[in-house]
Amino acid sequence: MQVAVLAGGVGGARLCHGLYRLQPEGLSLVVNTGDDFRLHGLAISPDLDTVLYTLAEWANPVQGWGLRDETWNCAQQLTQLGGESWFRLGDRDLATHLFRTHQLDQGLSLTRVMQQLAARAGLPTDLLWPMCDGQVRTKLRLSEGWVDFQDYFVKRQHTDRVLQCRYEGADQIPPTEGVVTALLAADRIVLAPSNPYLSLLPILSLQGMAALWPQLRARKVAVSPMIGTRAVKGPLASLLDSLGHPVSSLGIAQLLRDWIDVLIIDSGDTHLQPQIEALGLQVGLTPTLMKDTEDRERLARVTLDV
Ligand code: GDP
Ligand code: CA
Repeated sequence: MQVAVLAGGVGGARLCHGLYRLQPEGLSLVVNTGDDFRLHGLAISPDLDTVLYTLAEWANPVQGWGLRDETWNCAQQLTQLGGESWFRLGDRDLATHLFRTHQLDQGLSLTRVMQQLAARAGLPTDLLWPMCDGQVRTKLRLSEGWVDFQDYFVKRQHTDRVLQCRYEGADQIPPTEGVVTALLAADRIVLAPSNPYLSLLPILSLQGMAALWPQLRARKVAVSPMIGTRAVKGPLASLLDSLGHPVSSLGIAQLLRDWIDVLIIDSGDTHLQPQIEALGLQVGLTPTLMKDTEDRERLARVTLDV
């Protein structure tokens, strides 16, 4: 079976890892780049790196992002020098950013750079796909105005109330050819349990995506990132609330209803099934918290079988 996955960072990477362990071939992971930014002149792609590190089994198992056995000498020295230190880059992680920046500055596309990084990590080169090669930038409107994604997420620790999201550039930048080919070839498209506002909608907002979607023959299955009234991590519950959706998997269903056939929700949320079905979606019920590799594989299996 050909499978294409849309994913962001930590939640996305966990399910991608489960799918990769079940079927390493015929799998294409389309990853959000709306969070990408430059710092100290370095090109940083947080979601792509989280997926890369997780699949390579290089990731820090506790936090779910960054590398295991990381050290922070550079970040400490930078703080001492009074440099910009709000976004801390680990010593080993820096190598990825140095590599990527150099290659991009030589004129390679982000897609090509990620293929090289995947190969060096022992992964197939047709696995990891940046959603686009142009610059789409997620922006959030807070009470004092529009801010960049990392400003909201890292500098302000995502404590502000978000009044609006936009994906700057998305209406002029199409998904890459590799992404379109993978979506057209897919028998199944899986929307990972990623934050819809910050990870999935940037991908779905790309130029031509809305027109392409109805032409795809795949069955489209999403896993909800909400369990009860809480997100497993991050600001999703607060975003659902401030942007006018129910703070539960029902809110996820409302946001994704035009893009999916099936929504997989947590077994504890059975009471939401009738309301989600009333939106025209099929519901899958299963435990959706991924605590270990077995959970990832089991949930991945459900997304292929449902
Ligand atoms: P980010 O880019 O690192 O913020 O990652 P994503 O957008 O991919 O993922 C963030 C979302 O993943 C959050 O809304 C979490 O609720 C969700 N998430 C993380 N771990 C899990 C899990 O084990 N199960 C489910 N269902 N959702 C998860
Ligand atoms: Ca992210």
